[in-house]
Amino acid sequence: MSIAAPAPTTGLVEIHNVHKSYGGVEVLAGIDLTIAPGEVVAILGPSGSGKSTLLRTINHLESVDRGSVTVDGQLIGYELRGGRLHELREKDILRRRTQVGIVFQNFNLFPHLTALENIVEAPLALGRTTRAGARNLAERLLGRVGLSDKADHFPRQLSGGQQQRVAIARALALDPKVLLFDEPTSALDPELVGEVLDVIRALAQSGTTLVIVTHEIGFAREVADRIVFIDAGRILEEGPPSRVLVDPEHPRTREFLAKVL
Ligand code: ADP
Ligand code: MG
Repeated sequence: MSIAAPAPTTGLVEIHNVHKSYGGVEVLAGIDLTIAPGEVVAILGPSGSGKSTLLRTINHLESVDRGSVTVDGQLIGYELRGGRLHELREKDILRRRTQVGIVFQNFNLFPHLTALENIVEAPLALGRTTRAGARNLAERLLGRVGLSDKADHFPRQLSGGQQQRVAIARALALDPKVLLFDEPTSALDPELVGEVLDVIRALAQSGTTLVIVTHEIGFAREVADRIVFIDAGRILEEGPPSRVLVDPEHPRTREFLAKVL
């Protein structure tokens, strides 16, 4: 019997008909989203609309109840056997997850490791490189986020903005195909937001594929190729910032923008 192959892909990230419920409540109600290589997508939507859950399904921090996510043609978290999706073993989940970097609102650095060690950890644990190679990479990445002088600082010795820049460098260390940001500046004091947005902006300009959940509408307008507006687990509308943010079609989008702008 032949096994159906995944449909041919055109996007780097392909999210097909993703459903997810918690305790009978549908949090993602059939999400379809295709993201092209190099594209920068900003996801907007009210609190509780499913934005974080959606991001977490892209690297299989959350399983899905229905549908599928592929990155560069590879199913994330699952494999196709006998025409059905089966969840991968933990080891294989971890390996595929390295294709997708994620940066959280609260940085989530290892508190007992220095900035440099935080970045060294994953490439070393995965056997990607030697300790010397990983340190070299970490030093380069710290330079890229403007923190060469903080390599030996522990997270508690860094500002929130600096911690988030380390978290971005750490995510980049595995050379992911796509980088996800879940409200990366929401936990920061206002004066520290800019330095983090500068790093994300530079990534966008360098052609890195980015999916950014943010309430920074001005930033989304500036860096995103596409705005996706989510409400109650559904994509209500999407399009270029110049359209969605200026002349939204859906009343819920208009209502949301009126509140945050
Ligand atoms: P957003 O990021 O847009 O604020 P979330 O994706 O975090 O929304 O959450 C969407 C809904 O799912 C919320 O009602 C939230 O309470 C619920 N939810 C999220 N994670 C869980 C979980 N692990 N268990 C139960 N409910 C959850
Ligand atoms: Mg969230």
